[in-house]
Amino acid sequence: MVIQYQVKCNNCTGLYVVQAEPATTLKSSCPYCGHLATVATPIIEAEPSVAESEKPRKEKIESKSVGLGKKVAIVFVIVWFFIIALSSFLYVVFSAMSK
Ligand SMILES: [Zn+2]
Repeated sequence: MVIQYQVKCNNCTGLYVVQAEPATTLKSSCPYCGHLATVATPIIEAEPSVAESEKPRKEKIESKSVGLGKKVAIVFVIVWFFIIALSSFLYVVFSAMSK
């Protein structure tokens, strides 16, 4: 996995981008002054921390959707109970009328 790293030149403090694998050491020459620098690319730490910071958001969304699901279920139960009560009431009324 090749990742772009921003390297700061020790000679002219110019910033340039180096493409390399993580956790490797490579020699790169500065495009501004030609200074040859040994660049040690870091082990990927930024991406997992980003992933961890995204996890709570997903859990919050999931908990929200669960809460919404519970509300929908409660409303569904209330509506269903109302329909059953109404139909049984109508059944009692019509059976009383038919007699
Ligand atoms: Zn330089």
